[in-house]
Amino acid sequence: MKRAGQYVFHSFDGGVSCSGELLKVENSSELALEIEGKRIARGAGMSFSAASFDNGTTSIDVRGLKRIVFLDTTSRTVKVEAGVSIGRLLDFLLANGFSLPVLPGYPTITIGGCIAANAHGKNPLKDSTILDRVETFLLHHVDIGEIEVSRSTNSELFDLTVGGCGLTGTILSVTLRVSPVSNRWARVSVEPIYDLCQLPGLLTNSEGNDFVVSWHDFNQTGGRFGSGFIEKGKIIPSSSNSNLSSSQELILPVKEEHRIDSIMTLRAESRGQNFPTLWSHLTLVGAMNSVYTSIQSWRCGSHRLERIEDCIFPNKNLRDLYFHGFGKRGLFEHQIILVKDAFPEYVERVRWWLSRNELPITMASGKGFSGETRYLRFSKDGICFALDFPRCEQGQRFLSYLDGLVMKLGAIPNIFKDSRLPPEVVAKTYPDYELFRKRLKEFDPKGRYGSELSARLEL
Ligand SMILES: Cc1cc2nc3c(=O)[nH]c(=O)nc-3n(C[C@H](O)[C@H](O)[C@H](O)COP(=O)(O)OP(=O)(O)OC[C@H]3O[C@@H](n4cnc5c(N)ncnc54)[C@H](O)[C@@H]3O)c2cc1C
Repeated sequence: MKRAGQYVFHSFDGGVSCSGELLKVENSSELALEIEGKRIARGAGMSFSAASFDNGTTSIDVRGLKRIVFLDTTSRTVKVEAGVSIGRLLDFLLANGFSLPVLPGYPTITIGGCIAANAHGKNPLKDSTILDRVETFLLHHVDIGEIEVSRSTNSELFDLTVGGCGLTGTILSVTLRVSPVSNRWARVSVEPIYDLCQLPGLLTNSEGNDFVVSWHDFNQTGGRFGSGFIEKGKIIPSSSNSNLSSSQELILPVKEEHRIDSIMTLRAESRGQNFPTLWSHLTLVGAMNSVYTSIQSWRCGSHRLERIEDCIFPNKNLRDLYFHGFGKRGLFEHQIILVKDAFPEYVERVRWWLSRNELPITMASGKGFSGETRYLRFSKDGICFALDFPRCEQGQRFLSYLDGLVMKLGAIPNIFKDSRLPPEVVAKTYPDYELFRKRLKEFDPKGRYGSELSARLEL
């Protein structure tokens, strides 16, 4: 174990900075160490909100727990330590004829972080969230020790931990259900969307695809507001059955550094460093959207082949540049799920606000979603919609307006995507908010785990 000492942590959106201690663990026995005050597990630190640190709290960096323990091709399960990055896991799975369709869109994110945030992937309408993929995990709680957790053993703890913000303890390893793929390629197509209110129908009709994401231009006015594209990808079925039998030798993972490290690779600490702030200017954002619109228009009506990993982690270099373009000050991200019937009113009210206020919307994107809202898990049947904009006073005002809208329309906000989300909004929108607090208190009466997020949301 390495004590990295006092450290200044930043949320990925640039909104929260705290000073705490950083401990880097390399094996689970190191977690028994006496620590004063609260502690919290930390993966890659890629949450937009301050979920893995707080002032005076010890953050336990678990990325040293990075073994891929086994892949059982018969039961179609993989066991990994919690600090394994999803980029490395995906490389390993694809090399061995499998995939995991619920991975979030950036390769440095860890499996432990995905479970604590109940992450979703590129078609949550078809695949829901990582909850559906978790078979068992090993959890360490400082007062209890190691606990084996599954849907049948310690089922209440299972429910509290998946999407539980790291507040029940440190996940050490996890066994996940994986899907066989006989090909490393997907056929991708793009279609235009002229009317944003058509989106719910288009997403439902695309359910059979493995990757479905829409993009919209919110800086257009009049009838073109929200026009955009829906991009769909389907993994190509192979005629030859190339799945492995369990007796075949597995291909070892590639080295993580070879795959994801570049000068621009995003880290909360370095996002925007040495970069001018680009995206606070309406004209620059307009130009960026025009370029993207031209590229996508050109792609419409034809198919292209893309590697599965490029569908899961699309345009990594461009996205690095995009996030750095917010500069040190950072960005706001608002992500919600709302029922389909409420979507037209959401669109109309957002359009109304933006027509009266000058704020560049740098990204607007939708996905279909299926799942149950339990405790604080970001999961619900409906439309998942996200907006990015620069961190500025006008953006702050827009978010306050969106808070009211989210409560009015019965939507749920993603607590990992918005570092300023007020507790009243979460209490009002998540039906199990009080129940989560109560059950957490019963499990961990001393409140040994905590973060800025859990303090702000009064968990
Ligand atoms: C560019 C980008 C794209 C993204 N795309 C998506 C997306 O498509 N879908 C989606 O759902 N999310 C997405 N996210 C959000 C991201 O998946 C979550 O915030 C995730 O929790 C980050 O994981 P991390 O390893 O960085 O964890 P951290 O940010 O370090 O921690 C997040 C939470 O996980 C807990 N945690 C971490 N490791 C453990 C552990 N071993 N045991 C217990 N708790 C632990 C922490 O305590 C904390 O509460 C994206 C984020 C970025 C920056």
